[in-house]
Amino acid sequence: MIRQTHEQLINKEISSKELTQKFFDTIKEKDKDIHAYLSLDEDGAMRVAVRADEKIASGEELGMLEGVPLAVKDNMLVEGLSCTAASKMLEDYRAPYDATVVSRLKDAGAVILGKTNLDEFAMGASTENSAYGATRNPHDVGRVPGGSSGGSAAAVAADMCMAALGSDTGGSIRQPAAFCGIVGFKPTYGAVSRSGLISMASSLDQIGSLGSTVDDARIVFDTIRGKDEFDATSFDLKVPSSKFQASGLKVGVPKEYFGEGIDPRVKESVESAIREYEKNGAQVTEISLAHTDYGLPVYYIIMPSEVSSNLARYDGIRYGLSSRGGDLLEGYLKTRQEGFGKEVRTRIMLGIYTLSSGYYDAYYLRAQKVRTLIRQEFEKAFSEVDVIMTPATPTLPFRFGEKTKDPVSMYLSDVFTVGANLAGLPAVVIPCGWHDEGGKKLPVGLQLIGPQKDDYKVLDIAEMYEGFNK
Ligand code: GLN
Repeated sequence: MIRQTHEQLINKEISSKELTQKFFDTIKEKDKDIHAYLSLDEDGAMRVAVRADEKIASGEELGMLEGVPLAVKDNMLVEGLSCTAASKMLEDYRAPYDATVVSRLKDAGAVILGKTNLDEFAMGASTENSAYGATRNPHDVGRVPGGSSGGSAAAVAADMCMAALGSDTGGSIRQPAAFCGIVGFKPTYGAVSRSGLISMASSLDQIGSLGSTVDDARIVFDTIRGKDEFDATSFDLKVPSSKFQASGLKVGVPKEYFGEGIDPRVKESVESAIREYEKNGAQVTEISLAHTDYGLPVYYIIMPSEVSSNLARYDGIRYGLSSRGGDLLEGYLKTRQEGFGKEVRTRIMLGIYTLSSGYYDAYYLRAQKVRTLIRQEFEKAFSEVDVIMTPATPTLPFRFGEKTKDPVSMYLSDVFTVGANLAGLPAVVIPCGWHDEGGKKLPVGLQLIGPQKDDYKVLDIAEMYEGFNK
């Protein structure tokens, strides 16, 4: 709870240095089992904490994130620190500058504890694709934390940071948030600059926040968002002067999100959360998003197409690993074979195929057209409702290895989240129920999707739910 911590800092109940040390102590104790972090920056973090404490001592006004310990997914650049994207390709890479989101956090005085684990180049839904070993779910270490921002989600859930940055191309903030029982927010495409984020699929990638409460996710989002000259797609969001009011709230529930393949426990928790809104005055209506079934196929054409072009830069010459020997072609082949893991290579090959002449029209172009239909369908729905509520994922957190042999079963984890990326919409996931399984309690996430640029409204509506349970 960032707001409370901020008060404690101002009231000198705890210093930022003590707080930061406490987080490093927790990391040392727990991260052997969880493996949420790929690297830590104890010296840098302590320096920033001391600065915050000096400010407090001299009675200067303190910003909301000043002296507050956060974590950053290891696909965003923090000057001077390593940035691996969980790939062998970037094992020795050190960031020469700060990502815009990072420089905004630094300007706000936030303490950056370290860099968190992910699926290689953010491709995956479990962190099992990390070249440095998977992260474990803090609620059951036999299960995955979700992905690709699994390290950030696990770090928040296990109290190894106050909040964290993640990136979301097809669900990578929201699905791990659901699996770790925390809040994950993917903003409207363009609300947050992508400069300094290692690109996966640029028309879908979006940086957002993970926290224990909606307020925490909002505070981080508030700090990182806004127009940036280094990202032409970024813009300034209008901030509403007051919170969205519960009375008259119209909720749409798309029937396509509750069909076959969904775990009955997920369904039950999500439906009961929606009933809570209804009990508190919301008008709930069933809607239809008929193109839902096309979301995954469209995503798994557009995403690899963009991946194949974005990852062309890792050629052994311009960035990262360089395995030479033989002629130029052999150098390329060796570098990319040794540097990239299997999932990344699979997607590059798929993308090269869907973009190649002859197949471009049949796959890529067609997928773009269906993408437009999906976006239009959401727009139409939002002419009638304020927010759409769905499950975040079809299942509870799964076990390690359960889906690694069959990529399609892994891809199905994204079925409820890719729509918001394809349409560029803001979407937040909040915990809405827990289920006993083998003596462990496993979380379920409720997803709230809103119209483009209504980020604050979506967050306000999500926050209402926290109020119901008080
Ligand atoms: N799980 C999805 C995928 O594998 C989403 C990844 C992401 O959002 N970065 O592509």
